[in-house]
Amino acid sequence: MLNRLYARISIVLETIALVILLVSYFFFEDWTIRQICLWTAWSMIVGSLIIRFKFFKCPHCGKGDAIPQWSKNGNKSCRKCGESFNYDK
Ligand SMILES: [Zn+2]
Repeated sequence: MLNRLYARISIVLETIALVILLVSYFFFEDWTIRQICLWTAWSMIVGSLIIRFKFFKCPHCGKGDAIPQWSKNGNKSCRKCGESFNYDK
């Protein structure tokens, strides 16, 4: 069983990181601000990857990587064992 909350946190982190990267690229000329944005975005991406690594293994075989989904359930399946991923809510 996969945790929906962690799936959403990881999706939100990646989205915000992407927005920060785009905003810093298009709106800030100042290199210091850009660097702060870059580091913030990178740490969010790393955080999201850690969540994926720790909590998004296939619940059936433990080998395949599960894909975080916002609300759908059971329509993605493991590449290793073929079982579908189920969320707790
Ligand atoms: Zn599996």
